[in-house]
Amino acid sequence: MRLSNETIDRIHQQIDILEVVGDFVSLKKKGLNYWACCPFHNEKSPSFAVNPAKGIFKCFGCGKSGDAITFVQELEGLSYPEAMKYFANKYGIEIPEEAPRSDEEVKQQNERDSLYIVLNYAKNYFADLLFTNEDGKAIGLSYFKERGFSEATIKKFELGYSLDEWDGLLKTATQNGYKTEMLEKAGLILSRENANDSADRKHYDRFRGRVVFPIHNLSGKAIAFGARILKNDKNQPKYINSPETEVYSKSKILYGIFQAKNSIRNEDNCFLVEGYTDVISLHQAGVENVVASSGTSLTEEQIRLIKRYTENITVLYDGDPAGIKASLRGIDMILEEGMNVNVVLFPDNDDPDSYVRKIGGEKFKNFIRENKKDFISFKTELFLAETGNDPIKKAGIIKDIVTSIAKIPDGIKRALFFQQCSSLLKIDEQVLISEYNKVEIKRRQDKNKKNEQPEVVNYTAAEEYPVITEEPESDVDKLVSLLQDHELSILKLIILLGGEAVEGRKVVEYLLEETQDVESNNPLYLKIRNSVAEELNRGNEITKAFFLESQDEDIKKLAINFMVDKHQISAGWEKFGIIVPQDYELVEQSTPKAVLKYKRLFAKFLIREKRQGLINAANVEEEMQMMQEILSLQQFEKQIDKMLGIVIG
Ligand code: ZN
Repeated sequence: MRLSNETIDRIHQQIDILEVVGDFVSLKKKGLNYWACCPFHNEKSPSFAVNPAKGIFKCFGCGKSGDAITFVQELEGLSYPEAMKYFANKYGIEIPEEAPRSDEEVKQQNERDSLYIVLNYAKNYFADLLFTNEDGKAIGLSYFKERGFSEATIKKFELGYSLDEWDGLLKTATQNGYKTEMLEKAGLILSRENANDSADRKHYDRFRGRVVFPIHNLSGKAIAFGARILKNDKNQPKYINSPETEVYSKSKILYGIFQAKNSIRNEDNCFLVEGYTDVISLHQAGVENVVASSGTSLTEEQIRLIKRYTENITVLYDGDPAGIKASLRGIDMILEEGMNVNVVLFPDNDDPDSYVRKIGGEKFKNFIRENKKDFISFKTELFLAETGNDPIKKAGIIKDIVTSIAKIPDGIKRALFFQQCSSLLKIDEQVLISEYNKVEIKRRQDKNKKNEQPEVVNYTAAEEYPVITEEPESDVDKLVSLLQDHELSILKLIILLGGEAVEGRKVVEYLLEETQDVESNNPLYLKIRNSVAEELNRGNEITKAFFLESQDEDIKKLAINFMVDKHQISAGWEKFGIIVPQDYELVEQSTPKAVLKYKRLFAKFLIREKRQGLINAANVEEEMQMMQEILSLQQFEKQIDKMLGIVIG
């Protein structure tokens, strides 16, 4: 693709980073920036910021940053020209027709690009057959029409038909210059292990005699297909899907997300259904905030995909036992991601598809509004209907519900659900909480046993977005030794540059005053601080001689070491970004920076301590108290980060 400079300029003028990023994640304004959970790494509270004035984004969690174009490139795995094409599409900027690809050009594309091209070709091929081929029209199109899909809907979802032949796609595609190898890598054709007949018979089409549902990625590219057979054939599964390929991982994508994402954000809610046809029927009826996990059970990655656009999921499943079971499994996973979940079950023999066709979009929306239940009510009613008032069974329900509540990462939400559960089941809240404590203690014990990878845990207060990263146990030692490194760097500043000026004070005074509330148990550090403070109290100046002529051997030795090689940089210091002043002119910057870094590290250390306390908390009240303390430390840390940004920047 060749883009003129003029086209590129026009695209640049149109780009609004808020809108661009907003197509992928749900942004909330806070201060000058807009915040969201980072789409590049897994997190439960937002540390991904967009600054519209500067036109840039930055994630404070994983460090990714850039402008609107790099955002789309990185997120969607696009090359620069592809990203430009994406924007041109988005803003309706016409770009000159693509020149036909020569074999050479195709070869040069990397494999991912080639897969997209092959998949796009197949998508168009299937879609064409639906409208032009006799079988396509008679079998495929009439099936969709029977289901009530309009032509506009069929085109919107790019539905298609695959011929009931062994090599329908294979033949046409290879004739058009597509490589068998690529078709196979894209999951479109299969190969026979021992093919004795001609070379052509070695490969054959995966999708034969089926209606085809392309599965799109977030930017609307076909990355896979689902296909439903229409004739009665007991030897064939009703639905088959593309295999996992380099561009398709079924656990990471949701059917309909591309068509639904804007509506999900606008409605601040995502309807989750089971099948392709549920999604399409609802869309046609004007209910567009809907996606399907289609064929797989819901995964964490899929939930996080939804979380980019909203915190709210409404599960719409069939009311049959299988549907209920699937929804129960989904609920706990959604809760675990810190999201809000409601459930709607459909009347007997109806699924969202059939129901919306029966009553229409508006009534459907009303039905959802009136019948949605939060998970506690849903579970409680479900179990009570099954068990009546049998006290033993009731105990089982309580345990089950408490286990679900325990999955909610937010302590305040959790407390509210305990209240609600208490009134619904007519059980003293204290009973629930002690049950919860049992579940929690067991969970934490299990976790410690497994010695899991560090986990990002978040405890969210209503208005704040703190991120608490739990350090693994051994990191306490690392924190302590880091603290000592920082203390050394402060001592170095005191000894080498104590007499210089910073912010209208002597460096030594500045350092003593600004770090006085940081508790240290490093004896050498404390000894030097105390003797310096005494000397200052006596009204004396602190000079290098004060240290070099000290009666204390440790102090003297340290000072000599610093003096002898003041440019020596410890490998450890450099690695952790501890400043070692190389130049006296930098003292005005390096002194405050050293203090801020030291304080931030100390805050981290305290958070680590409180988190330990949180695990050992005896009850919910104590837990809440701890959480509050952690929250304010977190805010403190963030503040320092901001100040460090200013100092550095
Ligand atoms: Zn990130």
